[in-house]
Amino acid sequence: MKDAADAAAIAIVSEDVCKEVVSRADAFEAVEKVFAAMARGDAYNFPVIREAIGHADALYGFKSGFDRAGLVLGLKSGGYWPGNAARGLTNHQSTVFLFDPDTGRLRALVGGNHLTALRTAAASAVSIAHLARRDAKVLGMVGAGHQAQFQLRAAAEQRRFERVVAWNYHPDMLPKLGAVAAEIGLPFEAVERERLCAEADVIITIGSSTEPQIMADWVKPGTHLACMGTDTRGKQEVDPALLARATVFTDEVAQSITIGEAQHAVAQGLIGEDAVTPLGRVINGDHPGRTGDDEITLFDGTGVGLQDLAAAAVAMARAVESGKAQTLTL
Ligand code: NAD
Repeated sequence: MKDAADAAAIAIVSEDVCKEVVSRADAFEAVEKVFAAMARGDAYNFPVIREAIGHADALYGFKSGFDRAGLVLGLKSGGYWPGNAARGLTNHQSTVFLFDPDTGRLRALVGGNHLTALRTAAASAVSIAHLARRDAKVLGMVGAGHQAQFQLRAAAEQRRFERVVAWNYHPDMLPKLGAVAAEIGLPFEAVERERLCAEADVIITIGSSTEPQIMADWVKPGTHLACMGTDTRGKQEVDPALLARATVFTDEVAQSITIGEAQHAVAQGLIGEDAVTPLGRVINGDHPGRTGDDEITLFDGTGVGLQDLAAAAVAMARAVESGKAQTLTL
């Protein structure tokens, strides 16, 4: 009966343990793999639930899915509580639940806050790895909040960047991002948006914006953009005309055209759904990705539940292996 009892144990993986056991490289590999599985039809996301609950101004929801190739089943539940910061807590709160796909038993509860930042940064890093020009030298950051520093660290590992140019809606937040650049040895300069676009070979947008921060004709040929902030209807970071000028990739087409950056270009009839390609097709070798040095590529990273599950599955495995998971039985 011991084996059955062990199998019934639920692993609890805290936020602190997630920080210890999941590296940026782990997150990159997990996200790349699951994007590939999604594009092959081996992994799929279930419809997202996101509701204003009429309490504490909170937005609460579930993102869930099943990766049949990796045998990962579960959900991330949580959302946004705007009053948390005043209580010394992070506004975004989430927890991942992993289930045994053979039996339906709960296998793990994994803190989702750190993993969300890691998996989001991994998504843009995967897009840079597959779509940016190999000779990219200047990284442009639009946004300087909590996510931006994770984005910067993960992006810096993908190309031989020589410097960072950055702009943020709230300029007072930029020095904190500059400190991260200094830590990884990259010169950092706060610049106006037009200059950022004229100089950057790769641009990451990661703000909470509802209007375009970057106009289509500012962006130079050959740029790769990873648009990561738009994950809800009504949000927007770039000019919809930029999507018509660029070759557009995404994590999941259904999300891209409804809650992602492509929602505006599609609604305005500037592009059709068929103009948006899953990045997994490039990873799988079914789409060429970038086809020329002057092409503008744009990755619309909307954030899918399977990214969370992939990162949480790594956290669970590493935490159990290293004896860092707590356990309980229901
Ligand atoms: P944060 O609150 O720490 O930072 C917010 C950022 O948005 C800052 O750069 C701030 O200056 C900027 N901002 C705030 N109001 C703005 C406005 N009116 N116009 C333009 N910019 C504005 O948030 P965070 O955790 O860094 O998250 C940044 C964004 O990324 C959020 O919109 C969040 O929902 C989104 N996000 C996306 C994913 C994904 O998978 N795509 C995952 C996590 C977070």
